Amino acid sequence: MSDKKMQVVFASAEAAPFVKTGGLGDVAGSLPRALVAAGADVIVMVPKYGTIASEYTDRMEHVADFYVSLGWRNEYCGLERLVIDGVTYLFIDNERYFKRDYPYGFFDDGERFAFFSKAVTESLQHLPEGFQCDVLHCNDWHTALAPVFLREFYQGLPLYERVKTVFSIHNIAFQGQYADTILNDILGMAHIPNAARQLRCDERSINYMQGALDYSDAITTVSPSYAWEIQTPEYGEGLDGILRRRSNVLSGILNGIDTDAWNPATDPMIHANYSAADMSGKKACKAALQEELGLEVRDDRPLMVMVTRLTRQKGMDLVTYALDRILSGGVQVAVLGTGDYEEPMRYFANKYPGTCAARITFDNALSHRMYAGADMFLMPSLFEPCGLSQMIAMRYGTLPVVRETGGLRDTVAPYNQFTGEGTGFTFANFNGDEMGDAVFRGARLYWDDHAAWDQLVQNAMAADFSWVRSADEYMNLYHNLHPEIDITKPEPVVAEPEPAEPTAVEAEPAAPAPEPTVTEAEPAPKTEPAAEPADDAKAEAPAKAEEPAPKAEPTKKTAAKKTTASKTAAKKPAARKTAATKSTATKAAAKATATKPAASKAAVTKTTAAKATATKTTTKATASKATAAKTTAKKPSTASATKTATKSTTTKAAPAKAAAAKTAADKPATAAATAPKAAAAKTAPAKASTSKAATSSAAKATAKPATPKATAAKAAAPKAAAQDSSAATPADKPAPKAKSVSAAKRTTRKR
Ligand code: ADP
Repeated sequence: MSDKKMQVVFASAEAAPFVKTGGLGDVAGSLPRALVAAGADVIVMVPKYGTIASEYTDRMEHVADFYVSLGWRNEYCGLERLVIDGVTYLFIDNERYFKRDYPYGFFDDGERFAFFSKAVTESLQHLPEGFQCDVLHCNDWHTALAPVFLREFYQGLPLYERVKTVFSIHNIAFQGQYADTILNDILGMAHIPNAARQLRCDERSINYMQGALDYSDAITTVSPSYAWEIQTPEYGEGLDGILRRRSNVLSGILNGIDTDAWNPATDPMIHANYSAADMSGKKACKAALQEELGLEVRDDRPLMVMVTRLTRQKGMDLVTYALDRILSGGVQVAVLGTGDYEEPMRYFANKYPGTCAARITFDNALSHRMYAGADMFLMPSLFEPCGLSQMIAMRYGTLPVVRETGGLRDTVAPYNQFTGEGTGFTFANFNGDEMGDAVFRGARLYWDDHAAWDQLVQNAMAADFSWVRSADEYMNLYHNLHPEIDITKPEPVVAEPEPAEPTAVEAEPAAPAPEPTVTEAEPAPKTEPAAEPADDAKAEAPAKAEEPAPKAEPTKKTAAKKTTASKTAAKKPAARKTAATKSTATKAAAKATATKPAASKAAVTKTTAAKATATKTTTKATASKATAAKTTAKKPSTASATKTATKSTTTKAAPAKAAAAKTAADKPATAAATAPKAAAAKTAPAKASTSKAATSSAAKATAKPATPKATAAKAAAPKAAAQDSSAATPADKPAPKAKSVSAAKRTTRKR
């Protein structure tokens, strides 16, 4: 062991506060600081964009300049230094490439970021005195060529010999794929067979990210669940084959949130401050938010919010499908966001005044007020590498309702009514009815069992989402690459404010609070769902007598851990009886949904003993394993084969494994045919054009095939969702999903 500190160069195309277009900027803006606090020396390398504010550029100090070869070019590269909070930033200066109005989206992005990657690699020879790079940590496709250049062009130099490379995937949908003419013209690598082969993804293209996956010593992504999801064809965007091959060096490390900026106890942007120990301010925040948004100011209505890009990735298809049911069921909904689904949101806000609000804008201050004032936070993502919003919501005691995918699965533990554990409400499949069920599981708890609700809020607020935990995991990873460098954490200079301890809740039995207007009556089919919400709320009222909701440990603290999640899920009660008591329109849609019959069945078997449930769970887990094995066995033997296979699936809708997928493929087809009718029946005719938009989304949402088998198996709960999952066996996965996922993802981000 030496006294040397771990010295890390962290390369990213964006870093807050200098430049940020998404989560990558947040991570590069805060993780390095946490790494410094964890005992590392960190230099962050970022392009010196023309958009960086003068308050920063004015303070930059020129430390070096040299030329970088790029194919036949020789490009100037300056290094400009700025030190903030113990982190050294080195800005890569080349005005031809970076002095533009925005960071990405230019015809020559392939060349610009090849330059950036080469400049980063070259810069390792020009670092400040005493800094000897041990780990080069690259992020997303913009820096993906650095590990390739390093091994192919710099390997023999003593300085580079010790450098280990880490590549982090923040969103696998963006890979940097270009015509292979670049290989010679820009990368200057056409004559290196190894590089040419490993970069090539089909006969005409090369893929930067693919190169990083082959060349890096370690690969990470931003949540453990996303780490295994991207090894499946459903989420892997054609790179799943390589990721499976390199799974021994692939790990998922959750992002954190800035717990100072997001702190209800000190947040200056919210109506009243509060903490886990004294929640009175949250009630005031809710009332103020309801008033601000034009919603009815009443505490007996659970208020559910979304703060999000209004895109398909974020589950907006499911939202537009289920909003009628949710709003008419007595839940208030407020949405803040911009994107492809602005019109449907305006439509619902107009249709349900006082119950639904839409703010189509980007407003950071309002987002704070919404996180603070809401009871629930909806995030039903199609895929989610990590997700920050659900963590922020929990920090504000707002219970998330999420789909079990990616980072959402890893951060939200589903409520277990028997133990009181959990930090939110979850559902497995990308299905509007399942999402609606999850929303009403939350709403019912809000109405019926205040003690259990309060405990859940305490659990959520006690969860630790600080960067400290993630930084330690990165440090361990670096240490594995350089075991000779000892990691000694300095004195905890970054004193992250500890989430307040949950206060004990009296261990009184969960006496279900009387729900004011609920009866067990079966509601008549609604033609105008805007009718008195309270009536509709009845439809969502479960037969209380059936489930006494015993709570063994109402004061128990829950860690938001995966293991807990699966454990609690296994104990979950069966689906709500209300699946059978919906309006006829919903019934029709439910029938159309491939998974719904299973849900109904689950409702019938609601009172089944937990033993039987446990057995089912085990069976499913086994099935999942078998599935995983099957998937692996079927993987194409080479990366390019994988890519080609995925592409062919994308262009032709027909699934490659047609025989195996037949059953499931039939189901979505039926759903697509039936669901629009059902939704149309529910929608007020007056707003024909808008309702049409919502309806078609609904159709799409219903027709969506089940989530990956692993997701289904993981979620193996005795609830309807789990039954649905088991119905959708691996072979049931229709391949067309790959097309829609990838198409959606590619269009939702600027990068
Ligand atoms: P994404 O995939 O968009 O990065 P995350 O959940 O990881 O999703 O992070 C989204 C961040 O952007 C959160 O901090 C959220 O509060 C914020 N955000 C999204 N939309 C808006 C908006 N319209 N106004 C204010 N903040 C927003």
